[in-house]
Amino acid sequence: MILFDAHTHIDMAQFQKDLESVVQRAHDVGLLGMVSSSMGPGSFRRTLGIMRKHNGFIYHSAGCSVSQLTEQDATRIINLAQKHTKEIVAIGEVGLDYYWIKDARGREAQEPLFSHFIELAKEMNLPIVIHSRKAEERATEMLERQFSGDVLMHCFDGSPQVARRIADDGWNMTLPANFDRYQNRIAAAKIIPLEQILLETDGPYLSPTPDRNEPANVQYGCEALSGILGISVDDVAMATTNNAKRFYHL
Ligand SMILES: [Zn+2]
Repeated sequence: MILFDAHTHIDMAQFQKDLESVVQRAHDVGLLGMVSSSMGPGSFRRTLGIMRKHNGFIYHSAGCSVSQLTEQDATRIINLAQKHTKEIVAIGEVGLDYYWIKDARGREAQEPLFSHFIELAKEMNLPIVIHSRKAEERATEMLERQFSGDVLMHCFDGSPQVARRIADDGWNMTLPANFDRYQNRIAAAKIIPLEQILLETDGPYLSPTPDRNEPANVQYGCEALSGILGISVDDVAMATTNNAKRFYHL
């Protein structure tokens, strides 16, 4: 079985003590690789170091912590991405967060920052990975207007209506390892064609087990998707891995 974790945060403190065994377990369950999304300027540098050490297995996507992003950090991330063009495979996660940010003014303030990152992806000719927690519809609207490159809706949790729109737009989505606990995600798994689905862990978050989540757990999402679609685990693994390679141009 060949798997791929299309979105994780391997530079986080939760992995600091035993990173090498985390990477080893990922190899052991058959991962071909993983994309680690950085969450800010410090995280960008850490991820760069880890990526260089695990060259060809860990890839770097330059993103931010959407709900905590400041103008200053956005500028720093953009500068770093431009400086390290050859060492990143995507821009993201970037986007909109309506889960943590509840007031209208705060929500609106995220849009120009999101637009800066959309422009950056265009300029660098890179695919974009979208965080759209509780803001799936607005993020989709902005992207439809401003972006014509490849889009990955990470941990998509939108309504079936938005899922249909994403399917029609030809965009991709990732399902996390515990996705079968969420009705919207189960519905999206049936609406969006398998050719547009990637698997992720979002480790250390969204664990399917009582422990910290880690890339090896991508196998649980693969099993769940296999059950829902009635397709063998091997076929789901192969399809989602190929989708990740295609999306990130690996
Ligand atoms: Zn994430």
